[in-house]
Amino acid sequence: MLSNLATRDVETLLHPYTNLSAHRGTGPLVLERGDGVHVYDTEGRPYIEGMAGLWCTALGYSNAELAEAARAQMGRLPFGHLFSGRSHDPAIELAETLKELMPIPTSKIFFCSSGSEANDTQVKLAWYYNNALGRPNKKKIIGRLKGYHGVTVASASMTGLTANHADWDLPLPGFLHVATPHHYRGAEPGESEEAYSARLAADLEETILREGPETVAAFIAEPVMGAGGAIVPPRGYFEAIQAVLARYEVRLIADEVICGFGRLGTWFGGQALGMRADSLSFAKAVTSGYVPLGGLSVDPALYDVLVAQSEKLGTFGHGTTYSGHPVASAVALKTIEIYRRDRIVEGAASKAPQFQARLAALADHAIVGEARGIGLIGGLEIVADKASKRQYDPKAGVAARCVAFAQGEGLIVRPLAGDRVAVCPPLIIAPDEIDALFDRLTRALDRTRDWIR
Ligand code: PLP
Repeated sequence: MLSNLATRDVETLLHPYTNLSAHRGTGPLVLERGDGVHVYDTEGRPYIEGMAGLWCTALGYSNAELAEAARAQMGRLPFGHLFSGRSHDPAIELAETLKELMPIPTSKIFFCSSGSEANDTQVKLAWYYNNALGRPNKKKIIGRLKGYHGVTVASASMTGLTANHADWDLPLPGFLHVATPHHYRGAEPGESEEAYSARLAADLEETILREGPETVAAFIAEPVMGAGGAIVPPRGYFEAIQAVLARYEVRLIADEVICGFGRLGTWFGGQALGMRADSLSFAKAVTSGYVPLGGLSVDPALYDVLVAQSEKLGTFGHGTTYSGHPVASAVALKTIEIYRRDRIVEGAASKAPQFQARLAALADHAIVGEARGIGLIGGLEIVADKASKRQYDPKAGVAARCVAFAQGEGLIVRPLAGDRVAVCPPLIIAPDEIDALFDRLTRALDRTRDWIR
């Protein structure tokens, strides 16, 4: 029997990323409030939010300073835009702050409201840039299988997941995908991580040469793949990839939408993994998920070209109503102030060994093939046979079942395609809460094992 709220949900909401048929029977988990790393449902049951919402609520759920920053800005200037040269203090100050934090050469910051929009803008800028430079054929974009970059038409085209392509008429022509850098699944027997990275780079080079380097504009990568299964690249991966990209003047776009702002124990994920991108997309934890904000960095060479284009064409024809929204900017400024003041990034780094040790121990579980992670992000891969790495029939929905058992244990985690389970708690999680999270996850795996038998 569904509750009143659940019935109204089923009657009215079209849910993102939900099996719409199953949802009519199961109904929603309705949350009412949150406090620290916990959220509470309408029955008052607490859960550890082991996914920081959708990889975003780095400061947890009841941060009064963020609420006050939003309230104060609402009272002062609730809306302001950046079109036609208009501006306002919060957007200016946030752009200054982000320019200071950026780990790559940055001339300007462009704001939007989501990760998808940020990555869509990256594609448009790569196209616009090459047109301006008289290279109208240099337009193809390379992503990776299992990469996730969002759902707008260009972002979903760069994404490498079946659910975002099948029957959506995507990817668009001109969007290619190379292999997932996943040593556990992709390496040959006995192949070292370094040798595997070199092989992936050689495959990328072959793809670029086959397509014609004069047709390839950009390569996009998350430092650690999130939605693909929390996949950490093999050692030496970005160094090897970057050498290839540099040879053919292919821009590297870092999708830092999950990894940015401390997730790997560094301000940006690329810093932990030797990534040197031309531009970087951010969203999610820039406001701790409290209000929507995304954006990207514009490097000096790109900015010079954009200015020259304005001299030729007039207006820079891109932007949204909410680009640089003052309330989102004020909340982001407060979020970054707290990250700095409370040493949140350093805290994530210092808690990572405990988190990763508890995660790695799950690799011994009877149904876990691999437990992998870095910083405060991790993924599990459930297998039917550890030796052959054989998976269960996808129709059995084993990862989804494990996540349902976790929910019964008071833990929210996320099932991902390929019987993977992701863990990505708020960065403020305390050591005893990390233990509670993994105790509950272990019990959920035990119950999954017993359910399979
Ligand atoms: N890029 C990455 C790495 C993501 O994980 C996501 C969302 O999960 C996106 C882009 C898309 O962001 P949004 O959902 O804000 O459009």
